Amino acid sequence: MNEALFQFIWQHSLYVSSGLTTTTGEVLTIQQPGRLNRDSGPDFLEARIRVGNTLLVGNVELHLRTSDWVKHGHHKDPAYQRLILHVVLDDDAENPVTGMPVLVLGRRILPSLTDRYQDLVLNARKLPCASLHNGVKYIVKEQWLSTLLAERWEQKLAEWDVMLRNTSEDWRNLLYWRMAANFGFKTNATPFLMLAQSLPLNIIARHKDNPLQVEALFFGQSGMLAETYEDEYPNQLQKEYGFLRKKYKLNPLPAHLWKFLRMRPANFPTIRIAQFAALLQQSAHLFSKVIETHSVRDIEPLLDVKAGEYWDDHFRFDEPQKKKVRKSLGYSSVMNIIINTIAPIQFLYAARQESYNMHEQALQLLETVPPEQNHITAIWECNGWKAQNAAQSQALIQLFNNYCAPKRCLECAVGLSLMKSASGN
Ligand code: SF4
Repeated sequence: MNEALFQFIWQHSLYVSSGLTTTTGEVLTIQQPGRLNRDSGPDFLEARIRVGNTLLVGNVELHLRTSDWVKHGHHKDPAYQRLILHVVLDDDAENPVTGMPVLVLGRRILPSLTDRYQDLVLNARKLPCASLHNGVKYIVKEQWLSTLLAERWEQKLAEWDVMLRNTSEDWRNLLYWRMAANFGFKTNATPFLMLAQSLPLNIIARHKDNPLQVEALFFGQSGMLAETYEDEYPNQLQKEYGFLRKKYKLNPLPAHLWKFLRMRPANFPTIRIAQFAALLQQSAHLFSKVIETHSVRDIEPLLDVKAGEYWDDHFRFDEPQKKKVRKSLGYSSVMNIIINTIAPIQFLYAARQESYNMHEQALQLLETVPPEQNHITAIWECNGWKAQNAAQSQALIQLFNNYCAPKRCLECAVGLSLMKSASGN
């Protein structure tokens, strides 16, 4: 037993609560255990208890032993002078505070509860509740997934909100930057974002009717045109970029930022840059379309982009391939962009507009996208919790990263439900 577990047991009344008495034999009823205090001062605030016929409202302090009261110096601290109850696991000393009731819970906590705690929090497995969570009610899991999804958006969109303010509330620019980062997927997200931030949208807009110039701007700014090439296409790009770079006083990124290692060639940054250039070149009013579109079927055509013809038989400059394949974005990449760019920007826009309807539409969009397939969703699936859609897979990723991995089972609704079932209540 540790203090955090003891507080959890008190907070959720996970002890045998019939026939409670104080150490002086008075009948005790706990109406409200109080609010857990994470700041300095007593452990629980605004508790409501009845001692005999007297209703008391105030603060409660918990200790593993009665003697901890003096050990922790509370007898000299004015913040602890007006408590209504001292709750202890073991009574190893005389009550040091005259008139303050003491409740001893030691024998009222079932061993099955501490065993369950050990199974969850002190377990080295990746998913300590793997063999248990199927016993948790469906409704508990559903509500917990909704809370987790909201928590995930809150964390993610706080960063986007700052970005939006940094771009003077320009939603088009925010979409451009976030979409670029998404086109880099995990490995090249940062250089892709830097690329977009180095190349203002208004410059691209001026050259939209010339695909070669748009590609030259992106490849030039990526730093990939700094080498000498034999193929005609990169030479044409270099020529165009040389002119545009001077005209707009552009500074390219260093080419070493881009990663090609351990990637499938279809995900090489060269292919993704060519596809991103095609998206920017061919789409008009992308932001309003993204905000107004709420079904996968309507979004797919917006992201139906293909890298230019040169890339049909190349993955890198000057490295021809035998097989010719048109390099379109692909279904799983489109779904990834819906999950990681389109739905989040819809959520942020809904929050800024304070529109419940828009929020629900963004949620419905995520619910129609298939769940992500990655090592975290695979762990859940192996252990009997299969996400049905992207809203659920996002929530399960949040659960794993923020609760299971750091062993925060006592803060998890599944953990609470499992602890309750082991408490005998
Ligand atoms: S945090 Fe929750 S879901 Fe994760 S292992 Fe613990 S009890 Fe299970």
